[in-house]
Amino acid sequence: MTRISDLLGQGRCFSFEFFPPRTDEAEAQLQRTLLELAPLRPSFVSITYGAGGTTRERTHDLVVDILRSTAMTPMAHLCCAGHREDELRAILGHYRDEGVENILALRGDPPAELNLPPGDFAHAVELVELARELGSFSVGVAAHPEGHPASPDLATDRRHLAAKLTAADFAVTQFFFRLDDYLRLVDDLRGLGVDRPVLPGIMPVTNLSQVTRFAALSGAEFPPELAARLEAVAEDPAEVRRIGVEVASELCRALLEAGAPGLHFYTLNRSPATREIFANLGLSAAR
Ligand SMILES: Cc1cc2nc3c(=O)[nH]c(=O)nc-3n(C[C@H](O)[C@H](O)[C@H](O)COP(=O)(O)OP(=O)(O)OC[C@H]3O[C@@H](n4cnc5c(N)ncnc54)[C@H](O)[C@@H]3O)c2cc1C
Repeated sequence: MTRISDLLGQGRCFSFEFFPPRTDEAEAQLQRTLLELAPLRPSFVSITYGAGGTTRERTHDLVVDILRSTAMTPMAHLCCAGHREDELRAILGHYRDEGVENILALRGDPPAELNLPPGDFAHAVELVELARELGSFSVGVAAHPEGHPASPDLATDRRHLAAKLTAADFAVTQFFFRLDDYLRLVDDLRGLGVDRPVLPGIMPVTNLSQVTRFAALSGAEFPPELAARLEAVAEDPAEVRRIGVEVASELCRALLEAGAPGLHFYTLNRSPATREIFANLGLSAAR
């Protein structure tokens, strides 16, 4: 069984996200990471897509390679922004023909310097509908616990998310640092009549400046008390990392205790932080 919606129906899912490498060195790093994380037996692994098609082939090839040559179940991210509908049909058709069963349907934000026309679909929900039409894919969508940064307000964002998630099977969240942001998201969706699984996205802080930059881009607030704690040891990267893993482990434990349907790790193509969190939570032994 490799459809994520089925896996979520059976119990908690633990998943790892990777991006397609650009260089031979990065490729070798990713292959090492895949070997190191495979023993944790992830429910699935997901591969990002460069909005506007910048990683079109690399995402496809990595997804298919994981499907064919590992025991792991891949999920292909796909962004509709900047693509014509016929291109999206072709990409989804290839995945279907290769036997890829899981798609994360996204809008994406193509880099401005590509100067792309907007594409045929304005919102991810239209890509969800296309994936439904073209195959028996299990379809996931993105959720932003603190609201999408471009939304006029949280209530509007939640209404659009509820409609999108109703068309899909499950959601994976943007990373966040406070348990309450996740709980409020799930509560708001329930209030709108949607109880599909929402997998929390976890980004352990292993590098202060990188996470601060990501948080600014994604609309996730970096809590001042965590920032202060990390800045106090900013000269000692090993200590930043140790605190980052400890804080992420606490968040993961609290999420699972609160009933989250699993955890999705943004690995940045590295294994140590994820492995340490698994060990801290006692998940390695249990799986
Ligand atoms: C788990 C996860 C994985 C991601 N993977 C990638 C990746 O691989 N590649 C990449 O480039 N980016 C990725 N992203 C980032 C994502 O592409 C951006 O956050 C993007 O800005 C929004 O994508 P979306 O799918 O949430 O868009 P949408 O659901 O289309 O939402 C975008 C905005 O439009 C609004 N909206 C939605 N529907 C409607 C509607 N019908 N009418 C009016 N407004 C509407 C929403 O409220 C929101 O403000 C990922 C994000 C997450 C959380």
